[in-house]
This record gives sequence, structure tokens and C-alpha cells, in this order.
Amino acid sequence: MNDREERPKCPHCGSEMLKWEPPAQNTWGDPYHYVCFNDDCPYYINGWDYMWRTQQSRSSYRCQFTPRNRVCKPIPVWSPYDLKDGIVD
Ligand SMILES: [Zn+2]
Repeated sequence: MNDREERPKCPHCGSEMLKWEPPAQNTWGDPYHYVCFNDDCPYYINGWDYMWRTQQSRSSYRCQFTPRNRVCKPIPVWSPYDLKDGIVD
């Protein structure tokens, strides 16, 4: 029996994305999102470089999907630990 919800795979690294719950006061309208938490994901790794070069910001972003719209959008992070509190898997 397999009733497990199908999880999307990150288009940048192929890892299974994890279900992630945004902080309570969010206005995004979705109860959860999918986020790639692979620290080796090229999208995330290149993000540090990109943010520093373009905005002098020591931050990066991870690839996130909403369940409705499975298109990768950046969600900002300032450390490898950011957002991990919200993982609900
Ligand atoms: Zn990834």
C-alpha cells in the first residue's frame, strides 16, 4: 500500500523536497510548502555567491515549491540552519 503523498524533486539537485510549514503569521495562503534542504544543492550553493556579488548580502536561498504551483521560487536563508524549524516531515 502506498498512500504517501508524492513529493516533488528539486529541479536543481534531484533531491526529494521536504514539507515545510511557514511561520504562523504568513500571508502566503498555503498551509505548507516544499523546500529543498539539500546543503549540496547547486541552487543554494550558488546563491551565496550570487547574493554577495549582486547585493553584498551574506545570504542565500533555497528552492521552494507551493503545492499548487510547482515552480521553483527562492526563499531566503542567512545560515544553513534557517527554516529547518519548519520541517514537518
Ligand atoms: Zn535542490
